[in-house]
Amino acid sequence: MAERLVVVGGDPGGMGAISQARRGKPDLEVIAFERGRWTSYSACGIPYLVAGQVESLERLVSRSPDEFRATGVDVRMGHEVTALDLDARQVEVRHDGRTYREGFDYLLLGTGGHPIRPDLPGIDRPLVHGVQTLDDAADLLLHAEQAHASRVAIVGGGYIGLEMAEAFTMRGADVTLTEQAPQVMGTLDPDMAALVQEALVRFGVEVHVGCEVEGFEDDAVITAAGRQEADLVVLGLGVAPNSALAGQSGLELGVREAIRVDRRQRTSAEGVWAAGDCCESTHLVSGEKVHIALGTVANKQARVAGLNIGGRYATFPGVLGTAISKICATEVARTGLTTAEAERAGFASFATVVETTTRAGYFPGSESMTTKFVVEARTGRLLGAQIVGGSGSAKRIDACAVAISAGLAVDEIVDLDLAYAPPFSGVWDPVLVAARAALRQMEEERR
Ligand SMILES: Cc1cc2nc3c(=O)[nH]c(=O)nc-3n(C[C@H](O)[C@H](O)[C@H](O)COP(=O)(O)OP(=O)(O)OC[C@H]3O[C@@H](n4cnc5c(N)ncnc54)[C@H](O)[C@@H]3O)c2cc1C
Repeated sequence: MAERLVVVGGDPGGMGAISQARRGKPDLEVIAFERGRWTSYSACGIPYLVAGQVESLERLVSRSPDEFRATGVDVRMGHEVTALDLDARQVEVRHDGRTYREGFDYLLLGTGGHPIRPDLPGIDRPLVHGVQTLDDAADLLLHAEQAHASRVAIVGGGYIGLEMAEAFTMRGADVTLTEQAPQVMGTLDPDMAALVQEALVRFGVEVHVGCEVEGFEDDAVITAAGRQEADLVVLGLGVAPNSALAGQSGLELGVREAIRVDRRQRTSAEGVWAAGDCCESTHLVSGEKVHIALGTVANKQARVAGLNIGGRYATFPGVLGTAISKICATEVARTGLTTAEAERAGFASFATVVETTTRAGYFPGSESMTTKFVVEARTGRLLGAQIVGGSGSAKRIDACAVAISAGLAVDEIVDLDLAYAPPFSGVWDPVLVAARAALRQMEEERR
């Protein structure tokens, strides 16, 4: 009899493993359960759908259930896996009010995450939306249209909150963003986050930092600073892993209750794998377990899980938390450790900030950009980088991510043969300028 892989979750963490698994085991039977209405979609595109830059929800789907079915995958939409019986090697599934069981030889959990919903009065009122799936996006858009939402409150200043603030501003709404911490984007150092906040304000978003949200009414958000009228509230407080099923079945959970996996994406039970926002990763610089919910990570972890399920040997080394975003006209990117994270991880570090331009200073369209390096004091090794700037600035973070992965020190980065022509950068690329500044700082401190 053919072996069977059961996949729970229809987005990259689950579906991204299937082709690799079947390449290794062509006879593998695959059943994929998705409780929503979509498979393989780009949640990352939701802000651009809301902004009106993407014309329909369907454009965000890269592979429909029928496209999977055409390759022989038994995709069951509107089917929710409600329990895992690891001893019997079965999953319990609910569909249309009926519950049934299905057996597996291999199980892959790609259950994703959910927007954090604080336990505040009124959190369950209909105006409060979290955004994670296309179904969430459909609900949000329907509500925005029906309520003619012209006042939108964003609660939380992570990148999803910020992208949604931009999106609703582009739709013509008055947008207020409230963040409890003293800065937006907690994944950046405060000085870099301040540049992002300035960009939001320039774009017309009313930003309140250091301000606690206390509850929600049908037409308002109640904050420590007063009542903000709102037709719609979008939560941008971060993502928590959907790990309840795993936890209830006895699978080991790790940091922030994410499913514990090893470097091969194996959970604590034989033949059970996990990938994507539901599970944890290892940070490549600090070595610590982290939960970083990004599509880039989900796709890579799923590929590794699929290779292993298919009988090959593959490992996922870990993450740097490399992330990029466009907030209004400003690009933002980060990788590795921030100053505070470096300190928490026990590194003695220093930081260098340089101001450059995105293109040669004389070239039309040249804009300013700020690059920050976090550097290990003793060795000069790059630990982290952050970029905030105009068009064309943020993708340079990839060079920094490569440098960190390779363990390069700033004296080695200075010599990297990076490309130059006036429409793209100055003759010294901003990454090289930052490395030179860091090197100078090290030399001066040693004198
Ligand atoms: C607005 C927004 C913007 C983003 N932008 C970016 C970006 O620019 N770059 C980036 O790298 N990442 C971005 N992300 C993050 C990225 O979308 C996620 O990291 C990625 O989708 C995770 O994939 P996943 O398969 O692990 O989880 P999900 O995409 O959450 O998919 C999990 C699926 O499992 C289903 N499911 C869960 N439990 C069950 C169950 N018990 N039974 C059946 N089905 C179940 C869910 O319905 C869901 O469809 C963004 C996310 C959002 C919300």
